[in-house]
Amino acid sequence: MNRYSISGFVLFCQYLIFCSVFSCKPKTDVPPYVIAIHGGAGTIGKKNMTPEREEAYKQALTEALDLGEKILAEGGSALDAVEKTVEWLENNPLFNAGKGAVFTHEGTHELDASIMDGKTLAAGAVGGVRTIRNPIKLARKVMENSPHVFLAGRGAESFGLLHGLDTVSNSWFDTEHRRDSWQKALENERQDSLHGQGYLNQSDDIRFGTVGCVALDRNGNLAAATSTGGMTNKRWGRLGDSPVIGAGTYAENGVAAVSCTGDGEYFIRSAVAYDLVARMKYGGQSLKQAGDAIIHQKLPAMGGMGGLISLDAQGNIHLPFNSEGMYRAWAKPGSRSINIFESFN
Ligand code: ASP
Repeated sequence: MNRYSISGFVLFCQYLIFCSVFSCKPKTDVPPYVIAIHGGAGTIGKKNMTPEREEAYKQALTEALDLGEKILAEGGSALDAVEKTVEWLENNPLFNAGKGAVFTHEGTHELDASIMDGKTLAAGAVGGVRTIRNPIKLARKVMENSPHVFLAGRGAESFGLLHGLDTVSNSWFDTEHRRDSWQKALENERQDSLHGQGYLNQSDDIRFGTVGCVALDRNGNLAAATSTGGMTNKRWGRLGDSPVIGAGTYAENGVAAVSCTGDGEYFIRSAVAYDLVARMKYGGQSLKQAGDAIIHQKLPAMGGMGGLISLDAQGNIHLPFNSEGMYRAWAKPGSRSINIFESFN
């Protein structure tokens, strides 16, 4: 070994010692996976929430989170995690999605859902479906087995049948709780001089509710999914933001994954989910800055109420809302949080 290679070797050793002492690891350690879920911003008001109901919601959020976290911990994809978690929430009658969906003005159920893969920017969405048991599964089929992004009504159902999805009668989605809310909404509407605007004047838990999930997997892929029965007493084929890619749902690797809940009309007009991504991507805002600006400034200025769940590519989590509460939870290795009312994560 000559003089130069010896001094090179010494320098290299000094570098290794320096790294181990001062830790040259990047400052932002990205967690191996992260998941966040919501069960809607239309919570039962704090004063009407009984301890039993609160416990039932927290238990449901915990079980949904367990399911999604297991998929991610075992190396599953963000896409599978968001689909399966939302499917679980659709099957739980506590939430306004799938079984337990709100009633339309005519006493039926019309379900909307969407899903997006941040890796490929592929997306699938369905609107106004009445007999597909799990609309989120149909949305994923649209994404993966059709050349389209958004299918609605009967056509969407025929496509689901073609792909062997489970169907149920429309009344299978009925629950007593939602029937009561519908009856109250009809009564309020009868007293409402602005006929047809009745559902806008209900209390939050009567109007709202949606489920959603965002995830970051071990391969750095982001995904988002949202599913809802929409607004109680809706009519005329009304669709909200939940099945609209860019309004209720968006995911883009390297930036963020978002699922929204709230007054769909305002979320569509503000393109909320994509606005959050665009603020980060083109405006250099952080996940928190972007979400707070939309939920606490832009939407309230228009009169819109609701919230969103979001993750960025570094595994940061932000779950802002401007309503009284939002059923929500998140998990990453070694930590998790489940909340309804408090406005911190
Ligand atoms: N955004 C949904 C809709 O407008 C409702 C909700 O999230 O509560 O259909």
